[in-house]
Amino acid sequence: MTTENNTIFGKIIRGEVPSEKVYEDDDVLAFKDLNPTAPVHILVIPKKYIVNLFDVEEEDAELLGKLLLVAGKVASEQGLEEDGFRTVINNGAGVGQSVFHIHVHILGGRDFSWPPG
Ligand code: AMP
Repeated sequence: MTTENNTIFGKIIRGEVPSEKVYEDDDVLAFKDLNPTAPVHILVIPKKYIVNLFDVEEEDAELLGKLLLVAGKVASEQGLEEDGFRTVINNGAGVGQSVFHIHVHILGGRDFSWPPG
C-alpha cells in the first residue's frame, strides 16, 4: 500500500486544491467532478489513501461500504431517485482510471446505455 498521496484528490482532501464539496465527514468526501460527463457527476472518495480496488484490505470493508452509503445519500439529495443513477469505479489505467485515489463516480440526469462502453 502506498502511503504518500500526491494525487489531485489527496490535495483536495488536504485543502490544497479547491473543490465543490457536497458531503463530508471524518472518513468520506464527495465533490462535483471538474469535467462532468452527465448533468449530475459527483465523486465519492475515502479520506484514507487507497489506490483502487486492487489496493484494498480486509480492514477497508466498512469504509468501502460507507462510500456506497454516501453515494446513495448524495444521489438522493441530488434528486436522482426517480430516474436513478449509475455508479462507476475505474480500477486501472486500462479501463480509464486517471486519478489513482479510489473514487466512486455518481452519474445521473441523462440516459445511459448498457453495457457501458
Ligand atoms: P477516473 O478517470 O475514473 O480516474 O476519474 C477521475 C475523474 O476525476 C475525472 O472524471 C475527472 O474529471 C475528475 N477530476 C480530475 N481532477 C479533478 C478536480 N481537481 N476536481 C474534481 N474532479 C476532478
